[in-house]
Amino acid sequence: MGVKVVKFGGSSLADANQFKKVADIIKSDEKRRFVVPSAPGKRFKEDIKVTDMLYSCYELASKKKDFSESFNLIKDRYNGIIADLGLELCLDEEFEEIERSLKARAGRDYAASRGEYLNGIVLAKYLGFNFIDAGEVIFFDEKGNFMLEKTVSAIRERVRGLDNAVIPGFYGVSLNDTIKTFSRGGSDVTGSIVANAVKADIYENWTDVNGFLIADPRIVENPEVIKVITYNELRELSYMGATVLHEDAIFPVRNAGIPINIRNTNEPSAPGTMIVSEDLEETVSNYTITGLAGKKGFASITIEKAMMNNELGFCRKVLEVFEKNGLSFEHMPSSIDSMSIFLPSEKFVDIEQKIVSQIQKEVNPDNIVIEHNIALVAVVGRGMRKTRGTAGRIFSSLAHNHINVKMIDQGSSELNIIIGISENDFNQAISGIYDIFVKSVLK
Ligand code: ASP
Repeated sequence: MGVKVVKFGGSSLADANQFKKVADIIKSDEKRRFVVPSAPGKRFKEDIKVTDMLYSCYELASKKKDFSESFNLIKDRYNGIIADLGLELCLDEEFEEIERSLKARAGRDYAASRGEYLNGIVLAKYLGFNFIDAGEVIFFDEKGNFMLEKTVSAIRERVRGLDNAVIPGFYGVSLNDTIKTFSRGGSDVTGSIVANAVKADIYENWTDVNGFLIADPRIVENPEVIKVITYNELRELSYMGATVLHEDAIFPVRNAGIPINIRNTNEPSAPGTMIVSEDLEETVSNYTITGLAGKKGFASITIEKAMMNNELGFCRKVLEVFEKNGLSFEHMPSSIDSMSIFLPSEKFVDIEQKIVSQIQKEVNPDNIVIEHNIALVAVVGRGMRKTRGTAGRIFSSLAHNHINVKMIDQGSSELNIIIGISENDFNQAISGIYDIFVKSVLK
């Protein structure tokens, strides 16, 4: 029998009703043997995540202030879930221990980790599964770097002979015996590590959306779900701001060839999004593009000089100015007499004049033009490589919407086309491109 590792996010475990859905999902497939829970998340929009309440308790405790009010709310969350599920479980000892440790100035990561820890205990009890404290099997070195090999062998050793287990997400232990967490949303990473360790067939990441959407739903109404996306495409889209999964959750499964399936706890029959490695990229997509994402807040610096292309070392000298000022750039389109550098405005705005004068000194250009309020839009898709006319369609859609294109950059892998436009045109550009590649196909 194969193995599936299933990770459930905070909203999937926010109350007893959600726990029931989670248990139904797990029990409906006997391969779903290893479960990684987050801490209880929001039940409604204004609700507070248990992790955030724990951070508040820590802040108060570290200032030697009374944190009992927040802590009681946390206890109520768990006790409510336990009562509503009708479980015979008492967490009082755990609560006391946590309270004591917080008073004794236990660390911030320790405080935050208790959300997953307690939720793991409750879920294991409800499912009738074994509970494995992540503090026994997930390791960080003294500097706080995650240790994959040590962790994988510890998990393998610990689960040997076990039919199932719940392993809380988000935290582990460092070699000096203190609890350490991943960054926020880090239960995704734990799930991925466990999937690697138990050699899972698949890593299912259960959340509250039907998967990755082709475009941002705040811009495009009811966008289609991406059925299959490759790891590289996912990186391109995540870099441009599309987020569903923690960035670090990719490498432990990617290297092991394990696909990730993003699923919706509230709609378990929906197939979700499959994230697969590049060798499975032949998986057909209905559309030429896989996804669209973008970011605002960029600036461009255009440096003009007649015959620039004949001047040896011109680009290097310009780039050195950026390097010396600790600025990395995103794109650098060039022509025979000019080059432009695109970079995030916020990093650049305070030292703009300094950069201009240094460039002037280094290469003596004819003109330097700076523009802010630029947005970058990434059109990503493995299908673009094989399809003729993709760029043409993108630009005719932009022209049709009266959008002026400031920059075009096609990645050498032909996996993406990045377009620089004015921030004011951002939404229009995304919905126009979506329409031409997706909506028109749907009709
Ligand atoms: N509970 C943690 C957070 O809110 C980790 C997670 O949910 O993955 O960030």
